Amino acid sequence: MLNNLIKKNLYQKIKEFQSFILLLCIITLAILIVSFYDKFKSEQIKQFNNILQNVYLQKSLISFSKSLKPRHESIKYVVSAGESFEKILNEIELNNKEREKILNFIVNKKLKFNIYENQKIIFKIDNLEGKKVTLITIPINKKKDLVISYNDQKNLQSSVLTKELTLNKVYKENFIKSSLYKSAIEKKIDPNIIVQFAQIYGFEVDFQRDIRKNDGFQIVYEELRNDNNKVVDFGNILYANLILQGKSLELYHFSSDKEKINDHFESNGQSIKKTLMKTPINGARLSSSYGMRKHPILGYNKMHQGTDFAAPMGTPIMASGSGKILKAGWCGGGGNCVKIRHNSTYTTVYAHMSKFARGIKKGTRVSQGQIIGYVGSTGMSTGPHLHYEVIQNGKKINSQTLKLPSGKKLKGKIREDFELAKIKINVLKAELINKDD
Ligand SMILES: [Zn+2]
Repeated sequence: MLNNLIKKNLYQKIKEFQSFILLLCIITLAILIVSFYDKFKSEQIKQFNNILQNVYLQKSLISFSKSLKPRHESIKYVVSAGESFEKILNEIELNNKEREKILNFIVNKKLKFNIYENQKIIFKIDNLEGKKVTLITIPINKKKDLVISYNDQKNLQSSVLTKELTLNKVYKENFIKSSLYKSAIEKKIDPNIIVQFAQIYGFEVDFQRDIRKNDGFQIVYEELRNDNNKVVDFGNILYANLILQGKSLELYHFSSDKEKINDHFESNGQSIKKTLMKTPINGARLSSSYGMRKHPILGYNKMHQGTDFAAPMGTPIMASGSGKILKAGWCGGGGNCVKIRHNSTYTTVYAHMSKFARGIKKGTRVSQGQIIGYVGSTGMSTGPHLHYEVIQNGKKINSQTLKLPSGKKLKGKIREDFELAKIKINVLKAELINKDD
């Protein structure tokens, strides 16, 4: 009875666990299947790896991928010294037929271009049926490319394309030590901009005598960069400031197509241009006389009533104002000299020139800033310099203290436009200065 009771109890317990045991069995089976499949799979991978490691197959895979050249290729060819265009075509492994075709095209079309060291020629190549050039870009100069390509009729054609340039605005400033040129070069300003700067201020400033210690300049100018980020050209000097003995002379660029204005104006709308220039020579290169114990050449000699600019031999000399040439020849003590009549009041004289500029002779009309000759030491002279004289109503006067009537002043609507342009330039300047910090 007791035995029976235990048996029955046990049976019941087993029955209760039945479903649990079944679940346990299923899980065990599942684990077994998964592990078996995994083993099979890793075996398969091992086998596949063995096939790949087969030396012969590896070799053929490499050669297969090597022969898979892209259909379109671009080659940037950097020219070595003394290379010819024909040699370059050989170097890029064009077939003879293609090479002859291109060379004949160049000869027949009389295409002229220079090949020079470090020039970068771009070849676009189509590899579909052998190597075929589809486009050649040859730089002609900083701004232009010669492009040779195929037209729709599969004939070669050529065109000259202007490169895409981006306009960049730059702010620079420095103190002027020995010369404007040296101080500007120190700040990596391009010589073209320095000369332009000196020319603008040449109306108002004597670059040899007006520059003192701690004088300085500020400038905002435009530069044009090509797609290689190389500066290839310059735009306008938008803003300039020449600080002489603590006094600022600010200039703003202003242009109006309608009014045919493209000039630099003072803050009050007055043009910097005057009838005559104070420095009728490339002022950028002139060394200031401050700090020199003695003027290297003749000094500023009041006795001879002229102004001497000590400058390197060959420095260009400009007509200080527009006018007609009265004389271009030998003036005795003055050596090779030029005399210009500007109007009924003023005549200017330029002496000791090494040579005259092309076309400069009696009767020729010259415009302000035009090069008339070059610095020399002809006549009674102890070293290369320009002797400059201003004659007012037949009397020699001191060109450097001469008060000339101010240039044109902007008025009315055009003055309003100028004020707006001025604000824009000032904002730009502030932005550029902040960017620098
Ligand atoms: Zn002199």
